[in-house]
Amino acid sequence: MTVRVRIAPSPTGNLHIGTARTAVFNWLFARHHGGTFILRIEDTDQARSRPEYTQSIKEGLSWLGLHWDEGPYFQSERLDLYQQAVKTLLDKGYAYRCYTTEEELNQLRESQKARGLAPRYDNRHRNLTPEQEKAFEAEGRKPVIRFKIDDDREIVWKDHIRGILTWQGSDLGGDMVIARASSRQDLGKPLYNLAVVVDDMDMNISHVIRGEDHIANTAKQILLYEAFEGNIPEFAHTPLILNEQGQKLSKRDNVTAISDFYKMGFVPEAMTNYMALLGWTPPDSTQELFTLEEATKTFTIDRVSKSAAKFDWPKLDWINSQYIHNMPADRLLEMLVPFWQQAGYEVHLDQDRNWLEQVTALIAPSLTRLTDAVEQTEVFFQQTVELNEDAISQLQQEGVAPIIEAVYEQLKQQPKLSEDQAQQLVKDLTKQHNVKKGLVMRSLRAALTGKMKGHDLMQLWLLLNQKGLDQFRLENALNTIKS
Ligand code: GLU
Repeated sequence: MTVRVRIAPSPTGNLHIGTARTAVFNWLFARHHGGTFILRIEDTDQARSRPEYTQSIKEGLSWLGLHWDEGPYFQSERLDLYQQAVKTLLDKGYAYRCYTTEEELNQLRESQKARGLAPRYDNRHRNLTPEQEKAFEAEGRKPVIRFKIDDDREIVWKDHIRGILTWQGSDLGGDMVIARASSRQDLGKPLYNLAVVVDDMDMNISHVIRGEDHIANTAKQILLYEAFEGNIPEFAHTPLILNEQGQKLSKRDNVTAISDFYKMGFVPEAMTNYMALLGWTPPDSTQELFTLEEATKTFTIDRVSKSAAKFDWPKLDWINSQYIHNMPADRLLEMLVPFWQQAGYEVHLDQDRNWLEQVTALIAPSLTRLTDAVEQTEVFFQQTVELNEDAISQLQQEGVAPIIEAVYEQLKQQPKLSEDQAQQLVKDLTKQHNVKKGLVMRSLRAALTGKMKGHDLMQLWLLLNQKGLDQFRLENALNTIKS
């Protein structure tokens, strides 16, 4: 069987984590079976669709490494096809024009509610004569096109994730609106269910893998496939993603767009790894770290759980840190640059690449998110640092000032130090001033960084030294001690 799957977002918002996770499953499924992954932009809702959201979707998928083999197809460019389909349904008697007004529909719903019934259209215009249609149009009414759904129809399919699913025609809300028209001659503007079925048939989609919020749509769509005598794809409905409180992850959780995760300092490999685990369990259930490429080997849709997946921030953080710690410094550097620039640090990648790579290698093991690098590298990008209280009291300790002074003088004579020279200098100072090495190191840390904690001092000092920043800092510290 040729596997052809699609991700079909509506560009009514930025690429959402739920859509991205569904894209991960589709992508893995396609790659596992040597199939095709298609991007289709469902922009028939012109009022809510925006080109910048299409851009966000494309950028988000690309950033995640979910490259598509075909598309993007735009539904807004395929209206003829849908209108042709509407015509087919009308000609075959599977669809009809309905002139019920919004007001009449409201009344109907109210009366159903009063009787404790679920709201549904009562199919009142199923059998209008051409004369009745014309009379309604003379009143200024505009038709919608409805597809007939018989109450006694039972719709059954075997869902790859949820098993056998059964729907009753009577539970689908009455005859379904598939297009909105302006007159009897008009074939109208197609709505979601129609456009999806026409496209999935036209694009020979073999498997529809999408969120479980679409289950009721699937029941309706199966009826449309039957009416068109098209091949019905196989279906897999992926579970919801819940927040830590167990509610559906939504805009209220602040981070729902993939771009938010980027801004928070997550790396794409960690995101796709984590998203794959939001519902899927690898055959080796202890395996928590895998690249998308690795997961393609073992990914099967039947290992996706039907129960909702809870979003677990500590786990995402842990996965992110693992990718950061194992990343080559040059790649990590490229990823850090935008965050530094955003913090206002001056970064000169062409001149300073080597130095920046060393800075990166030094801090990498202590990063969880890329954004952590901003604070951790402040010491390298600022000319001076502010001394915190602990640093000041360290520098005010007896015997410290002469040590700092001595280092400063030494640097004035010989500004650049090798690691051996720096080590030797510390050794000499310990001897000359008759103090413990710890005191020298702590005092240097206080003067160079303004803090008492941080990365390996020798490495840090040598990096500052390469930029001549250590002299500044020592001079500054001396001034502080004296004042
Ligand atoms: N446009 C739909 C959505 O954004 C996609 C549904 C589908 O995959 O069929 O939810």
